[in-house]
Amino acid sequence: MQQSLFDISGKIAIVTGGGGVLGSSISENLLKNGAKVIILDIRQEALDARLEKLQTLGEVTGLTCNVLDMESLRNVRQQIKEQYGRIDILVNAAGGNTPGGTLTEEQTIFDLKMEDFHKVTDLNLTGTIYPSIVFGEVMAEQGEGSIVNISSMATYSAITRVPGYSVAKTGVNIFTQWLAMEMATKFNEKIRVNAIAPGFFIGDQNRAVLINPDGSLTERSKKVIARTPMKRFGDISELNGIVQFLCSNAASFITGTIIPVDGGFSSFSGV
Ligand code: NAD
Repeated sequence: MQQSLFDISGKIAIVTGGGGVLGSSISENLLKNGAKVIILDIRQEALDARLEKLQTLGEVTGLTCNVLDMESLRNVRQQIKEQYGRIDILVNAAGGNTPGGTLTEEQTIFDLKMEDFHKVTDLNLTGTIYPSIVFGEVMAEQGEGSIVNISSMATYSAITRVPGYSVAKTGVNIFTQWLAMEMATKFNEKIRVNAIAPGFFIGDQNRAVLINPDGSLTERSKKVIARTPMKRFGDISELNGIVQFLCSNAASFITGTIIPVDGGFSSFSGV
């Protein structure tokens, strides 16, 4: 039988932030399609909670790791190399908004505390760059691999209240393009680096700003839906296909791209 273009079976995949909403959903799909998955998260309890379900789907390991700490990442890399000998896929899903980094409706940029600004930019930008360097080095040695970063709609045009997150995710975009160029020109064209830019999905971090306690839409989410041609939020599972595609041979000539998964949000002027 001819192998599917989208086949990822047997690949060794690392998912940072694997204890989170997106990371665990992406991990589920990788496992269902035969990849061996290592989920990394700074919170042991998040790993434990996700592992229970993930272990029913395939070969998965959970390791505590801080994506902002090179030593922590190198320790994990060593363990993975000893266990599997290689790394085929890296999905950088650790990230997101942080409490103080998101302004309230009443606050302005002049209320933003610099420590909160640094926390959110560090998590989203440094937290993508460090794992890409540590695990990307293994891909450079073996001459193949696929890195998928998570960007955001906040990089296409300004979104209120999230200044630090927006600049950090825009940094993720150019880092994606930069590393794609570096890997293909200096190492091997079989090392590809891409990003997905999710539109609006209900996750733990943004539920409170999008959904009222009674389940109705907030004013903010009404604006989102009005700008989304498909007139709905995304379902987290709708990110799985694009990640699998980018990690498979079907995407063998695709590198340095940032692909929106947004129900049309980024392509619509609103008029
Ligand atoms: P989440 O909070 O559910 O998951 C993030 C995970 O990262 C958490 O389990 C957390 O413990 C972990 N983490 C935090 N700091 C870490 C660190 N220093 N080292 C290791 N792990 C760490 O968030 P999510 O909704 O799954 O979002 C995942 C990614 O997708 C983020 O980059 C987010 O910005 C992006 N994103 C999400 C949405 C959405 O609608 N949920 C939309 C666009 C982009």
